[in-house]
Amino acid sequence: MSSILDILTCKCPKCKKTKIFETKGSIWRFKIPYMPINCTTCNYKFERETGFFFGAMFVSYALAAAEMIACLVLFWLLMDLTPLIVFFIVVFTSFLCSTFNFRLARSIWIYIFYKAE
Ligand SMILES: [Zn+2]
Repeated sequence: MSSILDILTCKCPKCKKTKIFETKGSIWRFKIPYMPINCTTCNYKFERETGFFFGAMFVSYALAAAEMIACLVLFWLLMDLTPLIVFFIVVFTSFLCSTFNFRLARSIWIYIFYKAE
C-alpha cells in the first residue's frame, strides 16, 4: 500500500524520501517536470540505461486513454452533453493532465523495474 502512495507522490524507490522530480512543470508555461539524473539523497540512478523512459510513454498513453474514457462516460453518457462539447472537454482535460501523466508514467515505470538491493 505504501508503494502505491510512493508511486503517486513520485518518491525515490530506494530511499523513499526524495521526490523523483524537482519541479512539477507547468502546462501553462510549457515547462516539463525536471528530473535529476540521480537521487539527491541515496544517489539512485533513475534512468537505468539510454532510452529507459521510452516505455513510460506507453504508460502515459494508457493513463491518458483512461482519463479520456472517464471524461467520455461522465460527460456524454451520464450528463448527456453534445459530442462537440464533450470533444472539447476531453481535449482540455488531456491538455491539463499532460504534466501529471508525464510524472506518474515515469514514476510507475521506475517502480516496475526497481529491484530492492
Ligand atoms: Zn533516493
